[in-house]
Amino acid sequence: MSRVLVIGCGGVASVAIHKICQVSDVFTDLCIASRTVSKCDVLAEELKGNTKTNITTAKVDADNTDEVIALINKFKPDVVLNVALPYQDLTIMDACLACKVPYVDTANYECEDTDNPEWRKVYEERCKRLGFTAYFDYSWQWAYREKYKEAGITGLLGTGFDPGVTSVFTAYAQKHYFDEIHTIDILDCNGGDHGYPFATNFNPEINLREVSAPGSYWEDGHWVEIPPMSIKREYDFEGVGMKDMYLLHHEEIEALAANIPHVKRIRFFMTFGQSYLTHMKCLENVGMLRTDPVEFNGQQIVPIQFLKALLPDPASLGPRTVGKTNIGCIFTGIKDGKERKIYIYNVCDHQECYREVGSQAISYTTGVPAMIGTMLVAKGVWNKPGVFTTDEFDPDPYMDALNKYGLPWKVDENPVLVD
Ligand code: NDP
Repeated sequence: MSRVLVIGCGGVASVAIHKICQVSDVFTDLCIASRTVSKCDVLAEELKGNTKTNITTAKVDADNTDEVIALINKFKPDVVLNVALPYQDLTIMDACLACKVPYVDTANYECEDTDNPEWRKVYEERCKRLGFTAYFDYSWQWAYREKYKEAGITGLLGTGFDPGVTSVFTAYAQKHYFDEIHTIDILDCNGGDHGYPFATNFNPEINLREVSAPGSYWEDGHWVEIPPMSIKREYDFEGVGMKDMYLLHHEEIEALAANIPHVKRIRFFMTFGQSYLTHMKCLENVGMLRTDPVEFNGQQIVPIQFLKALLPDPASLGPRTVGKTNIGCIFTGIKDGKERKIYIYNVCDHQECYREVGSQAISYTTGVPAMIGTMLVAKGVWNKPGVFTTDEFDPDPYMDALNKYGLPWKVDENPVLVD
């Protein structure tokens, strides 16, 4: 019997909202709010008649905390799910804090304008102190821990697939399979083909920023940073086959390094085809990935935002994408004095996702865990005042929900390791 406010109505939100509407006994009332309210209205119309959840829509500029506060006061949600962009994380967290409503998201805070001098100063200090240069990190949101604790509300960060499910897999491995986890390799393989020469599977701006940045991994208590795409491995994925994968910086490494005792190394690999990398390098070389405004014909434009307008909308890839994803974590460590290795993973089929909710598997594998995290918070199953990542709660109810709501997982007790 919960009221949920979902902010954002893009690819990931659409799946999360479809799933929320499948769980009407928990989510009795839903408000879909976004910058472009017409998108919310279209989705609401599509779902009405197929769900018992009461759906309303609203227009909100989530960059404006007061607007979010006004909306929360009007709709009175029991939980807010932020599936807008990482740029809005702090404004929405502020609004939830002001109204004492639990907050849930799928990606950690990034500053939209990386030339903003105030943000830049903090960022440069952090680069020096921690040793990685990604534009995103948890420090901004972890700064809300005490405030959320005092307010008695839960802040659940990063409940997508990676981060999100990968951290739940880690908590599950820690609870049921290991006395000590020593290494974690997170593997994100997308074997899908959408038929376009170049398109991104989720928001292009966020995606291209992430993959064009230096890679980094955690080893022996510190970060090791490497040039972009400079560590490449091949791996044979069930359901997909042999793929090239590259080491990237990824946000869950930061949380897992802080929270998993004994861990010696954490790496993140994502698969990319050669054509994707060639397109990206070319766009980068000509300046199209720049995030700072450029003057053009008397107007200020941000190249990466202009590029987004040219690329296919990730939400439109659903009908054309075929193939599977295979995402999971390889753990090595010790159990009862013996060495152990396991791979916990999910295989997801793009076309099956499309048939169920009208989206491809990348939105699906993010939107389903977004709903699950929100549901556990709404039901009070995951209820801890403060701000936490998904590895900091009991993984079992989340793992059960993955099986129930479309992302069944498996454990391979003899996986091939990544060298
Ligand atoms: P989209 O670009 O498809 O959707 C973003 C939505 O947010 C749009 O509806 C957009 O509105 C809305 N929005 C943007 N700015 C504002 C604003 N100021 N106020 C209100 N609404 C706003 O993105 P995705 O669905 O692909 O991604 C959503 C989130 O999921 C991102 O944070 C992304 O990083 C995260 N993600 C997480 C993953 C994980 O595994 N953890 C994997 C993939 C994505 P409009 O329609 O007007 O543009």
